Amino acid sequence: MRIDIDKDRCIGAGQCALAAPGVFTQDDEGFSALLPGREDGGGDPMVKEAARACPVSAITVTEKDGAARATG
Ligand code: SF4
Repeated sequence: MRIDIDKDRCIGAGQCALAAPGVFTQDDEGFSALLPGREDGGGDPMVKEAARACPVSAITVTEKDGAARATG
């Protein structure tokens, strides 16, 4: 799984970190960031929920084979 965060789009709402705190965090400026070692989501099923929860659709989740995509 690949997780992309569009930093230009992110407004720092924090919904991703709330939905999947084991994968997402917020940087010093409040914008979304991936926790170290969690760049691939770590198999956390809440990653897609986090993508859906983002109010500005800044998170894109791409399955390994590229078949399934989920954006907020
Ligand atoms: S939910 Fe979306 S807007 Fe909010 S911090 Fe996460 S990526 Fe940014």
